[in-house]
Amino acid sequence: MFTDSHCHLNRLDLSRHDGKLSGAIAAMKAANVSRAMAIMCDFAEFDDIRAIVNEFSDDALNLGMSVGIHPCEDLAVLKSATVERLVKTASDNKVWAIGETGLDYYWSTENKAEQQASLARHIYASQALKKPLIVHTREAKDDTLDILKAENAEHGIIHCFTEDWETAKRALDLGFYISFSGIVSFKSAQTIRDAAMKVPRDRILIETDSPYLAPVPKRGKPNEPAFVPFVASCLADMFDMRAEEVGSLTARNFENLLAQYA
Ligand SMILES: [Zn+2]
Repeated sequence: MFTDSHCHLNRLDLSRHDGKLSGAIAAMKAANVSRAMAIMCDFAEFDDIRAIVNEFSDDALNLGMSVGIHPCEDLAVLKSATVERLVKTASDNKVWAIGETGLDYYWSTENKAEQQASLARHIYASQALKKPLIVHTREAKDDTLDILKAENAEHGIIHCFTEDWETAKRALDLGFYISFSGIVSFKSAQTIRDAAMKVPRDRILIETDSPYLAPVPKRGKPNEPAFVPFVASCLADMFDMRAEEVGSLTARNFENLLAQYA
């Protein structure tokens, strides 16, 4: 069984499934994906994602969601994420985590200060609710880690990890889990694979970040949660394990993360 720790279920390209989300859900079940966390990037998405989680959760598929504002959102959206609003929205029992938040200096350099302030507010909400923080970081690793440390963030995920071992080590030392996406399977990603080899096995998660970043051998196609076993399979080759074993291991890690302060 596999857990997709990060997917954008409300944004999938459903052309492969006749435009029906139920098709993508059936594909997940057929691929032994038994749990997934649907990620929110803007409050405007909350109702849609909450409805999806409600409609498609059953005995075979455990769906949850996150609440947070992506660092690449407009200034007004970033500012809308007050601690009070985050805590209130994320108190719902189907909300498993806070995010995705973080810093992205690749897509957006003009809002650096506001991104940093938003990250800090997400950390406070995560601490208030004892729900893990989901961190996105791109070309901003030092500022990201400095803020996590300064605000005593110790419970969460560095999602779609694309940095080196030194960065992974700093995040691990704070208490974070490291989640690998399909990027780890790309030919050019040797630095990420080198880091993955050193991450303690009990701190690794896997994700699709679908509809983005489809793993090899689906690279270039629209990504979907049913492809998370390919990420497991890439790590399994590196670890000399079976994909199913990486699936069980990362599913257990995800459970431990959610239960950390329960
Ligand atoms: Zn994402």
